[in-house]
Amino acid sequence: MTIDNLTSPTQVKSWCIENGFHPNRTLGQNFLIDRNALEAIVTGAGIEAGMRVLEIGPGLGVLTQALLERGASVVAVEKDARLAGRLHQALGSPAALQVLEADALDLDWPEFLAGGYDACVSNLPYSVGTRILLDLALQADAPAVTVVLVQREVAERFAALAGGSARGLAGVWLQLDYSVRMVRHVGAACFWPRPEVGSTIVRLDQCRSALTAVERESFFALTRYAFTHRRKQIGGSLRKAGGRLARSEEQLAALLNGAGIDPKMRAEQISNEGWQALARAYGDSGRKRPC
Ligand code: SAM
Repeated sequence: MTIDNLTSPTQVKSWCIENGFHPNRTLGQNFLIDRNALEAIVTGAGIEAGMRVLEIGPGLGVLTQALLERGASVVAVEKDARLAGRLHQALGSPAALQVLEADALDLDWPEFLAGGYDACVSNLPYSVGTRILLDLALQADAPAVTVVLVQREVAERFAALAGGSARGLAGVWLQLDYSVRMVRHVGAACFWPRPEVGSTIVRLDQCRSALTAVERESFFALTRYAFTHRRKQIGGSLRKAGGRLARSEEQLAALLNGAGIDPKMRAEQISNEGWQALARAYGDSGRKRPC
């Protein structure tokens, strides 16, 4: 049986039953069965003919087909061997489609992205979606536009600003190089099997930070350390840091002051501008100076 309409729950369920395919929870196999949400993703990504698009987790191909219909060429990375094997056959093997059976967590991203992509458009698997997105988005050659469907609370973390309860490392890191916007919520009923929670379409537009390589290293080291000790005040927590973050008490006070950060603040209260200012100050103060 072929699936004529990939947004038809009846057809999707019938295909699974006929083929003895049981959607795998661990792989986040909740297939999108809602045409409006599908339209919102493809339109939200601004897909046009000739664009080269990366898709992680094509599943049964509902998004892949929509991207191909808009004239994009698609490289789709799918971990599940049965789904990867089915895709070419189901979508008629167009020249514009390349299916790679692989775990996106194991990709050699710099090599993989060397071909150049205009956009990444994906309905990401729940359990590993944040890891995959961070692995991709922080690469030097990451696409300029990324549109992903993720769990609602994950989307809120990506977009959270300083002071909000959802503020965490993923949002701070993504907002270093992207403006992050929640495009539209997608209810749990728009997927089969129905997940326990709703999802949200998120769009990331690249606006690379001006930090130098050394300052970027400081940014990641500082934020990773501070969010590991997120209940502590930043002044107290950084006083105990070692390695590249080790500074005397006086130096630390001057660095925080110079970056406009109150030592009593906690990690989630610090804005991205504050983190970048602190990373610049650390990057600079950590460098060896000629005598
Ligand atoms: N794109 C399809 C859709 O919208 O209906 C399927 C999306 S489903 C939420 C996630 C897909 O990611 C599944 O097809 C699953 O097999 C695949 N997947 C899960 N983990 C993966 C990984 N580590 N690497 C690549 N694909 C993965």
